[in-house]
Order: sequence, then structure tokens, then C-alpha cells
Amino acid sequence: MSLSNVSIDGARLLADLHRLRRFGSYKTGVHRPTYSEPDMAARTWIADRMREAGLTPEIDGIGNVIGRGEGGPRLLLGSHSETQNHAGWLDGALGVIYGLEVARALGRGVDVVSWADEEGHYAGFTGSRSYVGELSDDETAAARNRYDGTTLPDALAKAGLAGKSRARYEPGRYRGYLEAHIEQGDDLESHALRIGIVTSIVAIWQFRVDFEGTQNHAGTTRMAIRRDAGVALVKLAGEVERRFPGVAGPRSVWTVGRITLDPGAASIIPGHAEMLLQFRDADPATLERMEAELRAIVADANAAGGCAVSLHALSRGTPKLCDAAIQDALERAAERFAPGLHQRMPSGAGHDAQLLAKVMPAGMLFVPSIGGISHHWSEDTAEDDIVLGCQVMAAAVADLLAA
Ligand SMILES: [Zn+2]
Repeated sequence: MSLSNVSIDGARLLADLHRLRRFGSYKTGVHRPTYSEPDMAARTWIADRMREAGLTPEIDGIGNVIGRGEGGPRLLLGSHSETQNHAGWLDGALGVIYGLEVARALGRGVDVVSWADEEGHYAGFTGSRSYVGELSDDETAAARNRYDGTTLPDALAKAGLAGKSRARYEPGRYRGYLEAHIEQGDDLESHALRIGIVTSIVAIWQFRVDFEGTQNHAGTTRMAIRRDAGVALVKLAGEVERRFPGVAGPRSVWTVGRITLDPGAASIIPGHAEMLLQFRDADPATLERMEAELRAIVADANAAGGCAVSLHALSRGTPKLCDAAIQDALERAAERFAPGLHQRMPSGAGHDAQLLAKVMPAGMLFVPSIGGISHHWSEDTAEDDIVLGCQVMAAAVADLLAA
């Protein structure tokens, strides 16, 4: 069999995905938090599957499962295998099992990885950041489970990982990293497309807006003399909603994810209020325009008088571009197996690939999410689409290895 005619085993792929789904199953989804019993059992099972595929598996000191083979050239394929709480069966799992199936189908040239804690029960992208050298010992010591407060070192010890070394990126080992993932949105489905070739992973810019008013009695303070920080916040949020469409790009998104009124009581005029605003886009110029508009909205609010409004930038990420040669290989493969039913598109969600892109060429493939639903137990993808995506991935990998 030549590499270019590689053919995956769809039944084997689906059987493995459904087997992995049983670790921590919840309704039709999965509850498999990082380092929990089902997560570690799933990781051991994945390591066993890697061994069966002829790879040498290792579960490293942060929980990454890496299966390595012999000889070159090589590509690294994978994703993460823990889930959000009470979430879906394919987020992460799909990319790991695609890696396994492509490694089996090709029989050479593919290492497979399941990163730990992409979903951030402890730190976020914990395993892939460890691999690329961006998880410090200080952060490891300080990280805590965001739901129950367990420290990361305690969780690692309980999972049997204490004292194990962490796998690190080996320069020169790989031609690149490929990650398949469910889209987690409805762009593919709404355009009746079956494959997405990811061009970039969007950057997230986050801001906090503070409003200073005057706290006072809700019954005795005349409306004319009030400085209500809550009202100022709601008005500004409305201005963002009204004005951002004029400066945003076609795929920009923005969210007021949290508002706080202080003191937050029914009979007290809020003297202080805060809101968290984030926006995402793959184009830095668009992000700059949105920030400039936000600053103008804040300036207008201050000019109008009343409450004092101040803007604080919390973080400004950088979009991570996917490798051009990997995009081309994925597109050729998509055109071969799903002619006309694919598109290039940015990823609105973060993925381990954005970390791997820092050390090697990286690319991503999306399959449709039914109804655009993800991070929920009802998350699903049609089995035909799951099999097609893996076939496209395998052909692209064969192409890249043959180049
Ligand atoms: Zn994911």
C-alpha cells in the first residue's frame, strides 16, 4: 500500500471512540475532569491502544500520554482526553482517536498524544504548555482545581504521577503537529459543509470596565441627583452592542461575561460596578479597531458626566496562524474525499495546537458539530462526518510525510 492510498478503518475508529466514551459516561456525554479516576483510567486505556498500534507509550509527570514510534520523518497527532464537567464525548477525544487511527492506518511516521488538562480544571492547556516549556514549577505548585481547591501537586500525587518526569518538545523530531477537533460552532453545519481547515486560532482580548458612582439610599435619593454605577454599566454595555458591529469583522465575537454591582442589594444604589468584556478575532487590525471603539465609548461616557468610567486591559493575546503547507495538504485531501464540501476558517475556541504552533508547524481540521453544541452532554457529530474527517486527516498526513 502506498501512503497516498492510505485508508482508515471507520468501524475501528468509531468503536474506539465509543469505548473511550464509557470512561466517566454521563447521559449521552462524559464527565471526565482532569486527573479524576475516569480520566486516569482513560489515559491508561489510550496508552494500551498506542502500544497495540506499535507505539511506545508514556504517561508523563503532568499526565500527557505520548506514544512514540521509530524512524522518520514523523508528525505528531492528537488532542486532549479530559472533558469539561458533564460535557460532550467528542471534545478532545476525537483528535486523540484520530491520531491513533491514522497511526494504525499508516503504520509509520506518526506519534500520538493526549494532552492533559486542556480544559483548565487546574491551569488550562496544562499538558501542552508543559511540553513546550511554558508551565513553570511555581505555577505548577500554585495551581488549584477551580471547583474543589485541590492543589495540582496533590492531584498529580493522587493520580500516581508524582516524581515522574515531564515530556518536553524534542527539536527536530517532528515535521509538524496536527489536531482534529469538533468545530464547537455551527458554521460548517449551517453551510452544509463537512470539513473545516483551520487558518488560525483567534486571539482573545480581555478588559475590565470600572464605574464609580455614589452609594446611597434607594428610597430617599431623588433620581435627579443619583450617580448610579449600575445604570452607567448597563448603558455602556448597550453602547458596545450598538457600536461594535460597525468596527468588527465578519467573524468577530464579543461577550460581557460578568457584571458586578457593589454592594448588590435591593435597596441600595450601587456605588461601584464592574464588567468583564472580552472580544475575539483572528485579525490583529480588527482587534485594534474594537479596542479603539471601546476606548471611544468609555471617553463618551466620561464626557457625558455622571459616573467615572475607567478601562483596564487584562490581556491581549496573539492569533496563532496555522502552517500554510499543512492547510494545503488538508485542503487537497478534503477536496479528494469531500469535493466542494470544505472551507478554510478560523477557530473561535482555543486549542492545544496554539501552544504547539510555537515550536513547530501546526494545523487543525474541524468536523461539524450537530446544532453547534459543545461543552454540553448532548454534543455530537454524525458518524459519517467522524469517519470522513479521519480519512481526510490520514490522506493529508500521508501527503505531508511523503513531501
Ligand atoms: Zn477541546
